[in-house]
Amino acid sequence: MSETIFSKIIRREIPADIVYEDEHLLGFRDVNPQAPVHVLFIPKKPMATLNDADDGDADLLGRLLLAARAFASKEGFAESGYRTVINCNADGGQSVYHLHLHLLAGRQLSWPPG
Ligand code: AMP
Repeated sequence: MSETIFSKIIRREIPADIVYEDEHLLGFRDVNPQAPVHVLFIPKKPMATLNDADDGDADLLGRLLLAARAFASKEGFAESGYRTVINCNADGGQSVYHLHLHLLAGRQLSWPPG
């Protein structure tokens, strides 16, 4: 996988508003938020897209969702609601090729997405 801006955030080479960290994951606020709450959860293990995940990554992928859920509970919007999104490749709208889960909350989100 080629180097991305998210690798630099993991290594603290560029700043980010980090809201969550454990052995496996990092969570930080999106620099261009699309909702009042917009956090990205990323695996520290480099993986460009969801297409690169395999059965051995089941635990890691579950951790991304559980971290988002825990953040929603901690911040008090789990009951009002939120959305999690993984964009994959060009048609999915992916712009940074380091797997990430978007967590969006704090306003009524429309459906279908654009
Ligand atoms: P995607 O389009 O799904 O690949 O999402 C990439 C997201 O990364 C976008 O929502 C960007 O706003 C966000 N982003 C890009 N660079 C940074 C950065 N340095 N810090 C935080 N978020 C970023």
